[in-house]
Amino acid sequence: MNILKELAVQKLKDRGVKILDIADIVFNLQKKYIEDLTIEDCISTIDSIIAKREVTHAILTGIAIDETVEKDLFEEPINKIIKTDDSLYGIDEILPLSIVNIYGSIAFTNFGYLDKTKPGIIGKLDTLGKDGKQCHTFLDDIICAIASSAASRLAHKNRID
Ligand code: MG
Repeated sequence: MNILKELAVQKLKDRGVKILDIADIVFNLQKKYIEDLTIEDCISTIDSIIAKREVTHAILTGIAIDETVEKDLFEEPINKIIKTDDSLYGIDEILPLSIVNIYGSIAFTNFGYLDKTKPGIIGKLDTLGKDGKQCHTFLDDIICAIASSAASRLAHKNRID
């Protein structure tokens, strides 16, 4: 059993993100390119991505930062900068590049697209964070990275020639 992976999946769940929420986003990204794509294909692709150590490390680090900020445990001004998701703070987009970098240019372009359009759970996390009670400054970008990487992996796997 992959203990780190189980932990990452549990932490995602604790923070309000189910694998199915991510699968919905992946399905919508790739359905126009892969004719017989199913939600199960998306779930199993996400599963294989989360099984990678670089990915679990990024998930656990991002969530740890969000949770520490919620407890106001970082020094100011950085705690507030992260908590308010300051528009000029971009480290939350840089950390998930450790995931996106593994999956190449399709992952990279989709990552930017998801960050801008914020479909489904990504938008939900963004709104919850902006309400001020919770902090999802890192988690929303982590989800963008997992979904865009899954889209890329599916695109490459689907090519038969
Ligand atoms: Mg963010």
